[in-house]
Parts: sequence; C-alpha cells; structure tokens
Amino acid sequence: MADVIPAAAQPRLPVAGTGDDTWFPVRRIYCVGRNFADHAREMGADAPAGAARGTPVFFLKPADALVPGGGDIPYPPGTRELHHEVELVVALGEGARVFGYGIGLDLTRRDLQAAAKAKGLPWDTGKSFDHAAPASALLPAAAIGAIGPRTLSLEVDGEVRQSATLDRMTWSVPDILDELSRLYTLRAGDLVFMGTPAGVGPLLPGNRFRAALDDLLELRGTIVD
Ligand code: MN
Repeated sequence: MADVIPAAAQPRLPVAGTGDDTWFPVRRIYCVGRNFADHAREMGADAPAGAARGTPVFFLKPADALVPGGGDIPYPPGTRELHHEVELVVALGEGARVFGYGIGLDLTRRDLQAAAKAKGLPWDTGKSFDHAAPASALLPAAAIGAIGPRTLSLEVDGEVRQSATLDRMTWSVPDILDELSRLYTLRAGDLVFMGTPAGVGPLLPGNRFRAALDDLLELRGTIVD
C-alpha cells in the first residue's frame, strides 16, 4: 500500500507541566457559540438562561487551523474584519475523558460570518480558515483543579479586551460534552473551544495579543501581513 501524495502532518499541541517533550495529537476541533450571555447579547442574540437556555450552538474548525503556541499569525484573506475571541480549550484523552485544558483564539472573519448569518447560510468561511485557531500548550486537568473560578483574559497591545471567570459559561464543560455526545462520537484527540465572553473586537496587522488563564497558561502572538 502506498500513498499517492505525501500524508499531511498530524496537528498537535505541546503538553505543559509534564517535564518531558510530550505532545497531544489533535483529531477534531469542536467549537461552542454563544456560551457567555454577555457575548451573545453583544452579537445581537438572545441569551436565555436556566431551563430556557435551549441547546448550544456548535460548529467545527479544521484541525490544521491550529497554530500551536501562537507566534506570527498571517492576516487572513477575504476579510476586512478579523476578530479575536479568547476561549477555554478542553482536550479529550482516552475514553473521551477530559485530559487537560488550554486557551486559544477562535479567530473569526466577522464580516463573512455576519453576511452568512443574514442569509441563514453556514458560518464556515467566517470561522474555518488557515491559522484560525492559535492555541496554547495544554495543562493536564489535575494541575488546574476546579476550572470555574479561573479567569480567562485577552490583552491586545497591552489593553485588556476580554476578561471573565469561567463559571459564567452558560453551558459548563460537562454540559457541553454531554450535548456534543448526542451529536458526535467524541474520541481521544478532540478539542473543544468553549466559547468567548464579551469584548470581541478587531485585530489588525501589527497587533500583539496575549491570552491567559490566570498565571497557569499563556498564549502570545502577533498579527502579520
Ligand atoms: Mn467563539
């Protein structure tokens, strides 16, 4: 048996805190929309809570959109409105149990997403593109403990744009894994971008960003032409 083209490299994220050169091979990237009420409202959507919250919004990004560790992020083609969305990233290990957590940016071509939404069309061109998912190293779950009280934040050129504790998510990590499991068979190597709090906004060439989860995780990068 022989491949007729070279096989693409498996996307992978580094694993922090293990003391070794260890990596997490990535299978799929699931993403959650509208998981913080303040962000849903800033996007013009309703944000019902409790029993009225309905079902989560899901979409996917290709695994090869990951930019492990951040660094230089090319400004994508086809847009004049690249937006940042800082998010918790859940990494599933063996048995689809939570292996660990990272942080990432759900980079969005907001103008394309808005045009698709207005026509009732899929969001793919707004959400799924090359370099659309810069992500930090992963930290094993045991090194973090309870995730709810942790603060997720994003600075652009030293100015805080987004900051929220993770207990404000409409759907918790177990909620989301339960909902996803009704639609997909979750497997080791899957990542889930858990949705962004309010404060999304533009990124321009030359902007430097720094995302953090308290002092546990950090992701830095620069938007380049
Ligand atoms: Mn998002």
